[in-house]
Amino acid sequence: MKIICIGRNYAEHAKEMNAAVPTEPVFFLKPDTALIKDNQPFYYPDFSKEIHHEVELVLKINKPGKNIAVEFAHKYCDEIGIGIDFTARDIQAKCKEKGLPWEKAKAFDGSAPIGQFINKNKLKEMNNIAFHLTLNGNIVQQGNTNDLLFSFDTVISYISKFFTLKTGDLIFTGTPEGVGAVAIGDRLEAYIENEKLLNFEIK
Ligand code: ZN
Repeated sequence: MKIICIGRNYAEHAKEMNAAVPTEPVFFLKPDTALIKDNQPFYYPDFSKEIHHEVELVLKINKPGKNIAVEFAHKYCDEIGIGIDFTARDIQAKCKEKGLPWEKAKAFDGSAPIGQFINKNKLKEMNNIAFHLTLNGNIVQQGNTNDLLFSFDTVISYISKFFTLKTGDLIFTGTPEGVGAVAIGDRLEAYIENEKLLNFEIK
């Protein structure tokens, strides 16, 4: 399976990164070795001094598809979860400076913790899903899919022009504003609406 992540999909986050708001989806990949499941801890890597949390809704692809039309895209995902797109911001800044690829900053081991998935039918409307992240009990990021620059359907359709989507692939759909550093000993808890679906520690 593969993990596809959308960058800058919430305008307020693009602003806080001093990045332009994109006119078409920006995406990058993480390998399966980035996954952390079952609320296992994240081990702070020694190559970075600035790991940031980016809480994101995650789509699970339920069947193979290529060149998926926007109007059929919703049929390729039944389950939605929440995850963290951990980013080594110090390394990312260096990569950006030199115009180099981001993988070292984005795709390292453990950079994609994911929580439990829930059936889409449990949520009222895809374009009005509230989610948030707490750090040691305090809310640090809050988002709602009504602020998405590119909807879930648009993102699925767009990605599938370039990559065949396969069953089990995951799409991280972008982070709202409020990204920030984590430290050893921190506890991160992520919620869709009021349901806690992810809860783990930084070690
Ligand atoms: Zn992200």
